[in-house]
Amino acid sequence: SFPADVVPQAPEDPLFGLMRAYKADQSKDKIDLGIGAYRDNNAKPWVLPVVRKADDIIHNDPNLDHEYLPIAGLASFTSKAREIFLGAASPALKDERVTSVQTISGTGAVHLGALFLAKFYKGNRTIYFSNPTWANHKQIFDNVALPTATYPYFDKKTKGLDFEGMKKALQDAPERSIILLHACAHNPTGVDPTEAQWREIASIMRQKSHFPFFDSAYQGFASGDLERDAGAVRHFVEQGFELLVAQSFAKNFGLYGERAGCLHFVTAPGPSAKEDTARIASQLAILQRSEISNPPIYGARIVSTVLNDDKLFAEWRDNLREMSGRIKDMRQALRSKLEALGTPGTWNHITDQIGMFSFTGLSEQQVLKLRDEFHVYMTKNGRISMAGLNTSNVDYFAKAVDKVVR
Ligand code: PLP
Repeated sequence: SFPADVVPQAPEDPLFGLMRAYKADQSKDKIDLGIGAYRDNNAKPWVLPVVRKADDIIHNDPNLDHEYLPIAGLASFTSKAREIFLGAASPALKDERVTSVQTISGTGAVHLGALFLAKFYKGNRTIYFSNPTWANHKQIFDNVALPTATYPYFDKKTKGLDFEGMKKALQDAPERSIILLHACAHNPTGVDPTEAQWREIASIMRQKSHFPFFDSAYQGFASGDLERDAGAVRHFVEQGFELLVAQSFAKNFGLYGERAGCLHFVTAPGPSAKEDTARIASQLAILQRSEISNPPIYGARIVSTVLNDDKLFAEWRDNLREMSGRIKDMRQALRSKLEALGTPGTWNHITDQIGMFSFTGLSEQQVLKLRDEFHVYMTKNGRISMAGLNTSNVDYFAKAVDKVVR
């Protein structure tokens, strides 16, 4: 059997535990700033209008069936998905040195990439994460038994990037280490390197022959501009890196539960690049087959329908601008309310940070007070999901923060 000393009780996932506590709270004032899912100005999940249209198109197709997808997934989906972050004119695409596998959203992509590296990577097998990073990264790499380490990222004083600390850690890491990078809208801090800083990061990683593993969960959601949010990945590809990209369509399509994502391997340019890519594709297919056999179809059909139609694609861009625009408005509103209240501390980081989250700098004690006294739910590290704020509750939230900070 499996006694407690062999299978101990595991703690509940903090984020999903928070969600449960929020649901059980009966207060009319309660605010959910925990989970990273977009909410409209009425605090409701938002089905993107372009997703509704794609859904109609799919369901009106008389040839629709529910057959298995190929092991690597829906080709009309994966081929457009990689164009989005690489750019359609990318030499990597022209040279056929990109291979793509449809995955169980971003999490499945990170996992499949981790599994591939665990099996085949011959450099320094330690993977370096930013400190802090998305809570799931460590669990995923632990599961495939790759050692993990961290590089400094967040500067508590400025509530911005600890760029010097990050650079030094990349310099000091053994050559050919695996470096996990958030492509944009860093979770949980909302702090991204600038374009110039990305160039420096790439240059250090080039000198040290590090292997970049990009986690791209927020393209288009960060700035509202797909190209801009792909800038870092594109720069690395232009520099000739061999790299992995885990791509999620959960946030930017609002397809959270449909699990639409991809893992892309970009091979370095060279005379054998095309053949190398085909070899890598063959091994990814073996891993995928043993893990999930083949991926789920619905979310991929939705994204494929949109990405393969110019009009729908343009509409998606509008939907992205609407989501990111509302979040930017909430950043502005929160900052100006805190400043107007004269809340102790500086609040410029609220508008300097980008994407779904803000790392407020609130302490665990303040977070717990906000929960117990004001029915505001956020993670203990002081992260708030900006999408949980709206014109009806931002005032209440600012006043609550003001009270717990004083
Ligand atoms: N990576 C990061 C940094 C994330 O924030 C998330 C979602 O919160 C994911 C990956 C994966 O999300 P999903 O598996 O829902 O696509």
